[in-house]
Amino acid sequence: MIDDENDEDILNKSVSLKKVMKNILLILLIGVGALFIYLGGENQTTNFMIGFSLICLGTSLIQIQKQKTEPIRQTLTILACNLCNITNVRHYEHGDYVFKEIGSCDKCNESMRIKQIYNVKLKKPTIQTKKSDEKKKKEEEKVKA
Ligand SMILES: [Zn+2]
Repeated sequence: MIDDENDEDILNKSVSLKKVMKNILLILLIGVGALFIYLGGENQTTNFMIGFSLICLGTSLIQIQKQKTEPIRQTLTILACNLCNITNVRHYEHGDYVFKEIGSCDKCNESMRIKQIYNVKLKKPTIQTKKSDEKKKKEEEKVKA
């Protein structure tokens, strides 16, 4: 078990090193793009176009990376009863919008409406992914053996 944790530590470190390397490469890409624009040269418009597209590529790749590294965001929907004002919180579902009528109240059977939809940042996801479940099963098997 202890050995397993150490392996994970090393894995995390190499992943973060890869991320740093990628970021450096992207910054270099943008830098080269900027150089093309500043230096100009014989064919200024072509160099400007090359530089501009390099910068665009670099910045959009950084954006994609940021989205991937922040997966732990969750959208929640708050439901409220029309009559007794009881509120219910659940995960956002496709097609949810504010004031949409959804289901009925547990207490008075009056229809419930979506009161608010908001995005929260979480340290850990509340819904466990399949991967972590499989990992747990493996660990349990190891303990048994
Ligand atoms: Zn109610």
